[in-house]
Amino acid sequence: MYKVERKTIIESVKGMLLESVKTLHKEVLDAFENARENERNPLAKNILDKILENHEIANSKDIPLCQDTGIVVCFLEIGRELYFDYDLDEAINVGVSQAYIEGYLRKSIVRHPLNRINTMDNTPAVIHHEFIPGNKLIIHIAPKGGGSENMSTLKMLSPSEGREGLIQFVLDTITKGGGRPCPPLIVGVGIGGNFEKCA
Ligand code: SF4
Repeated sequence: MYKVERKTIIESVKGMLLESVKTLHKEVLDAFENARENERNPLAKNILDKILENHEIANSKDIPLCQDTGIVVCFLEIGRELYFDYDLDEAINVGVSQAYIEGYLRKSIVRHPLNRINTMDNTPAVIHHEFIPGNKLIIHIAPKGGGSENMSTLKMLSPSEGREGLIQFVLDTITKGGGRPCPPLIVGVGIGGNFEKCA
């Protein structure tokens, strides 16, 4: 059995968050550059220019790409040969807390949707766990902005609605979102499973 130190988890989570709020992944950046290169509509080209300029400013000035530094979503792949003599989720949340406090990032999370009391450190993160073979712990982390999160929706379709019903629901959701989600838009669709599995 192998052990991953609590301190390593905290520092990794903190480091990844501080980096991810101000830097786009290379694949994403390449896609933006490619889109700008090929875009013929002047207004769309100008918006892509602004997004890339924003990225350069965030990088050079060491500030977040957006005022909304999101809710932290964490996907863990946990090697079955690992053991933890501490609470793994708690360690992740300590990393989140340190990143948001020390990095002066916006704290958007409230303790309860109705009492609206801010937790003041952006915890708790939403953490998903999966066990994998081996002795590695893989942490995927994303500060997910509210502009995308707020446009998420779910519908239970009846079998008779079929493929057409599914397409219609996707189209209706995009139309209803209108200009509210932040561009550029990438539509993700999950089908199948039960209520929570599908989402
Ligand atoms: S969804 Fe929009 S407001 Fe939120 S982080 Fe992304 S760009 Fe910023």
